[in-house]
This record gives sequence, C-alpha cells and structure tokens, in this order.
Amino acid sequence: MTIETGIELRNHCSYRTGGKAEFYAAVKTDIDLAEALRFAADRKLEITVLGGGYNVLISDRGVKGLVIDTTGLNSHTVISGTEVYAGAGVIIDELAGKTAEIGLCGMEEMSGIPGCVGGAVKMNAGAFSTEIKDIAVHVDMMDFDGRRYRVSNADAGFGYRKAEGLKGIVLGAMFGLKQGSAEDIKNKRADILAKRAEKQPLHLPSCGSVFKRPEGNYAGTLIEKCGLKGFSIGGAQVAEKHANFILNTGNATADDIYRLIKHVQDTVEKETGVRLEREVRFIGFEE
Ligand SMILES: Cc1cc2nc3c(=O)[nH]c(=O)nc-3n(C[C@H](O)[C@H](O)[C@H](O)COP(=O)(O)OP(=O)(O)OC[C@H]3O[C@@H](n4cnc5c(N)ncnc54)[C@H](O)[C@@H]3O)c2cc1C
Repeated sequence: MTIETGIELRNHCSYRTGGKAEFYAAVKTDIDLAEALRFAADRKLEITVLGGGYNVLISDRGVKGLVIDTTGLNSHTVISGTEVYAGAGVIIDELAGKTAEIGLCGMEEMSGIPGCVGGAVKMNAGAFSTEIKDIAVHVDMMDFDGRRYRVSNADAGFGYRKAEGLKGIVLGAMFGLKQGSAEDIKNKRADILAKRAEKQPLHLPSCGSVFKRPEGNYAGTLIEKCGLKGFSIGGAQVAEKHANFILNTGNATADDIYRLIKHVQDTVEKETGVRLEREVRFIGFEE
C-alpha cells in the first residue's frame, strides 16, 4: 500500500468538488489500514475516513492530514443462510440487488442508496421504512490505534443518520435478513428504484438530502415554502424536482454549495422558526 500525495478529492466526492488530500491511502485490507494508521500516528496527522463520498462536501482548500479511502475493503461478502457479512467497501445497492436475487428480504428498501457499507453503517443510512439499525447484527471496527473490535447493534449508538458508538473505521458488518420470495423482493426493489428516479434529481451531482427531516415536517416542504426552489449561488442550485437536494449544475465550487446550504438554513429559520440540521458531512471546512 502506498501513501499518496496530491490526490484530487473531487474524484472521491459525489458533488465533484474539493481540493487535494495532503496524504491519501486507498486501503484494501486490514493490514493496509493498520499501516496507514501507523503512518498517521507517527506524524500526528489528522485522519479523515471516506467511503464512496456520497454524503460529504469536501472543501476546495483540500484536506490536511491523511485521508483514508475505505472503498477497497470490498473483497468480503459471505452469505450464510439468512446472515450476510459485507466488507466496508461493498456497494450497498449491489448488496441489496444480490440479496434480492437470492430471496433474502430486509435490504430491498435500501435499493438505490449510493455509497458503501462502511458509510451506510456510520450514517445509519435508510430509506422508506428501513434503516441500517433494523438489519445490522454487529459491526467490525478498527480503532485509530489499529486495534480490531466488534460492536453489537445495541452498542452502536444508532440514531437518525448517526452511529455514535462506532469510533474509528468500519471494517465490515453482519446483517440479519429473512427468507422471502425472490420474485416479490425483486419487484419491490424495482418499485423502489423507480420511485427514486421519479422523485429525485439524479441527473446532476448531489449528496442526496442535504438536511435531516425535522420533527413533524419535511425539510423539502419548508424549503419550498420559503420560495427557494431553483435558487442558486454560483453553480449550486436548490433542485426544482426535490427542494432538499442541492445540485452542482456544472461548475459549482464547494464554497458555492457551502454558502447555499447556509443560506437555505438561515432563510428557513427566519421564515418558519425551524433550524434545519444538516445530514451532509462537511470535510475541511472551519465550522
Ligand atoms: C442521489 C443520492 C441519494 C441518496 N439517498 C439516500 C437515502 O435514501 N438514504 C440515506 O440514508 N442516504 C442517502 N444518500 C446519502 C448517502 O448515499 C449515504 O449517506 C451513504 O450511506 C453514504 O455512504 P458513503 O460510502 O458514500 O459514505 P461517505 O459519504 O464517504 O461518508 C459518510 C460518513 O461516513 C464516514 N465513513 C465512510 N466510510 C466509513 C468507514 N469505513 N468507517 C468509518 N466511517 C466511515 C465518513 O467519514 C463520513 O462521515 C443519498 C446520496 C445521494 C447522492
């Protein structure tokens, strides 16, 4: 495993924005990961962990320290009965497709969520009525000192788009699914994918929903009520199709997107009294 310098993070962020990583390690095994962590510890470097980069906004000024790309931790998918173990780098939608194919039910509502198992577990990703917390049995982790440990579902601290009990890097997770009819599950998956394509602006780079759902309301509804659909700063625009999506219409900088997120938050708060909480994670910004 080589530690690289000067890697453009725009190629690792679904917004297609972001500067360079000071140091960058694309790890493929636990051994690579432990080596990368030692490199960072020896130099007292800050560590940033990346999966597919579908829920992050990376600063144009780049990221100091070591960026660890975990998408290569994908060699491991083991299906035994109704239990499915997947490495952190396995693509969550591919896993949903594979489990549907063999008649395992539980992941089909995750169909179409971009990104990898590690990011999905860390974010407690979810859609429709399923979240990772509903199907995870345990999560294998490596702490920042390079020690492996296992966390049960109950200790993972799963909450709305967070898993506060998971400290360090997700290596993989065991999911407990149920036996079902492959045909029904595949039909449901197809239905979910069609709903996503109908409701979401998938033709331009975004991070999906920018804000979490506020209690008793929808972020998109509040944003729309404030007349912000279509509002833009530079190349960043509030999507017409779904107001909780902010799109890179072609030449947006991370700063354009950052400023638009703040503008939406401030406007919605001023006009409705609700302070929207971000779902997207900022990397390399001073907050
Ligand atoms: C079009 C679109 C639609 C979306 N729809 C949904 C949806 O329906 N539901 C939903 O929940 N999300 C949705 N998202 C957001 C995103 O797909 C999920 O949050 C996904 O789980 C992110 O996975 P990732 O691998 O890309 O993680 P990243 O974006 O790379 O990282 C997200 C967070 O997880 C951390 N992380 C990543 N990998 C690891 C690891 N191995 N160990 C420890 N920490 C790690 C990162 O540090 C970061 O804090 C959508 C995004 C897009 C672009």
